[in-house]
Amino acid sequence: MGTIDGLPPLREVIRAHDLVAKRQLGQNFLLDLNLTAKIARSAGDLSGCDVLEVGPGPGGLTRGLLAEGARRVLAVEKDARCIPALEEIAASAPGRLEVLLGDALEVDVLAHLTPPIKVVANLPYNVGTELLIRWLSAPWPPYWSSLTLMFQKEVAERIVAKPRTDHYGRLALLAQWRCNVAIVMVLPPEAFTPAPKVHSAVVQLTALAEPRFPCDFGVLQRVTAMAFGQRRKMLRSSLKGMGPGIEGLLESVGIPPTARAEEIGLEQFCALARAVAGQNEALPRA
Ligand code: SAM
Repeated sequence: MGTIDGLPPLREVIRAHDLVAKRQLGQNFLLDLNLTAKIARSAGDLSGCDVLEVGPGPGGLTRGLLAEGARRVLAVEKDARCIPALEEIAASAPGRLEVLLGDALEVDVLAHLTPPIKVVANLPYNVGTELLIRWLSAPWPPYWSSLTLMFQKEVAERIVAKPRTDHYGRLALLAQWRCNVAIVMVLPPEAFTPAPKVHSAVVQLTALAEPRFPCDFGVLQRVTAMAFGQRRKMLRSSLKGMGPGIEGLLESVGIPPTARAEEIGLEQFCALARAVAGQNEALPRA
């Protein structure tokens, strides 16, 4: 793939623009361009795609995405100090990099992207999970075909977790309901500047053509939030808030009311979400 020529090493960029990392913005930068190219490659063929990158910082991953042949990159960065460095990259890849200054939780990215769209980001740890839930909440079919995301390793493990394991919970269920998921890379703290306290991992989430099992996402979110809010309790008590008929509903979909959330797989949770939605529909309207 082509390189982005004529740009200084990232350490120089950081020095020149005085990009002292700010902890409150979750700034842990990747300065090794071989590594950022490898992360970009883990998102698969980018050549015919627009890529959404959240939090480009000084632009290490941005350079990797462009070098690996992304058709266009939309980079949304909250820290105004990073914009001049990103504009330098944009100048060396004419027409291929659009930089937006703003909060990724607020910017309307869809107005700036053309399908097919992949999301690739080394996410700020403080908003990473919230952004993931938003991408997972997108209407079907999702506007993105895959998400390639760097998280703290513990969060990555929660996304790919299976039932009856410590990390299994709401995040695993919501992600696996609409995606194939896999950890594709694990990075030690020293890969970043400054080094965080914990390991990080890249998760690849590939959108399914349709949900793995039918149910309403909002109901699945509510049921799993309540079930795992008190994960050590039996479901008949953790789900009490669903109404007095919860034991009957659990039994109707083959879940023992004495089971705990971590023992229940995605298919059964989806059946429960359908039963809850059906019951709500059957209630007389006020
Ligand atoms: N992509 C760069 C890299 O890999 O070196 C930086 C990654 S750093 C972990 C996270 C980046 O997200 C920072 O540049 C930070 O300023 C930015 N950021 C933090 N909160 C943000 C938000 N709400 N919206 C957009 N960017 C944000």
